[in-house]
Amino acid sequence: MKKKISVVIPAYNEEEIISRTIDRVLAVLEKNNYSNYEIVVVNDGSSDKTIQILNNYSIKNTNVKIVNFSRNFGHEAATTAGLHHAEGEYIFIIDADLQDPPELFPEMIKKMIETEADVVYGVRNSRKGESLLKKATSRGFYRTFNMLSDFKFPVDTGDFRLLNRKVLAAFNNLSEKKKYVRGLFSWLGFTQEPFYYDREERSAGVSKYNYRKLLRLALDVIFSFSKKPLKIAFSLGIFCILTSLALLIYVMVSKAIYAVPGWASTVTIIVFFGGIQMFMIGVLGEYLSIIFDEVKKRPEYIVKETFNIGKNNEK
Ligand code: UDP
Ligand code: MG
Repeated sequence: MKKKISVVIPAYNEEEIISRTIDRVLAVLEKNNYSNYEIVVVNDGSSDKTIQILNNYSIKNTNVKIVNFSRNFGHEAATTAGLHHAEGEYIFIIDADLQDPPELFPEMIKKMIETEADVVYGVRNSRKGESLLKKATSRGFYRTFNMLSDFKFPVDTGDFRLLNRKVLAAFNNLSEKKKYVRGLFSWLGFTQEPFYYDREERSAGVSKYNYRKLLRLALDVIFSFSKKPLKIAFSLGIFCILTSLALLIYVMVSKAIYAVPGWASTVTIIVFFGGIQMFMIGVLGEYLSIIFDEVKKRPEYIVKETFNIGKNNEK
């Protein structure tokens, strides 16, 4: 294959596995005679030995390129940085933990060529080693998202995918700071083909996402892709006004008939409406915080140093 292949890998505290990942990727590239390639690993402020391991690779092999962040900026920023630095015609995104097998690369390229697709995205047939609770919350999230979002988003899809240069260019043109990579790829459009595969267990190390972080991610995604919460807030407001009018009429009529003050119901109503108002202020706050982040125009990530980036070394 003449065309250059880029493999983008975000890595955060992956010392236990990163060398196995790179070795496996290299083996696949070699076996299939993809001699024109680069592996772009983004070290997302790891506090372990990840960067030292990567440096050793980059010295031995100039096709292993490193973008080293100044601190941890998060999975999405790391993936974005990898994409910004990728120079290939075929660009793969994979996690550092070998949950997405690099052995599937040739089949994915074949599918891209055969179907003339611009994106071949991985869809998980099965998710080994993930708890029932994680699977259920993940399914719940995709359902909620698709209900709230203005566009549909493929279920059970991660970042594992293959893109062509056109799609990469479109992605790299996006200027928003808070990126949800997989969502943006479906938002971009183009011709996209699903690719079904079995997701492996994480081979070593631990997941960097706990439930608190997952919930935060889910909320960020919903608020940055959908305006429906605002519309729901509006409808709820109208519902509350109508309900309170009905209650007012009821109170006036019942007062005329029984003249008994209903303390409990009054308090309930106050608490109910107070709660709704706080909730709505929270919804507004979420959008405001996104706007706040965007207007500050701070970069998505800071690169401390890079290794081998910009070097083109075809073997
Ligand atoms: N990751 C990252 N920065 C972070 C958290 C995670 O670059 O702050 C990387 C991590 O090294 C891995 C990928 O993002 O390559 C996915 O993370 P993880 O496997 O922990 O997530 P899960 O597969 O459990 O959803
Ligand atoms: Mg993982």
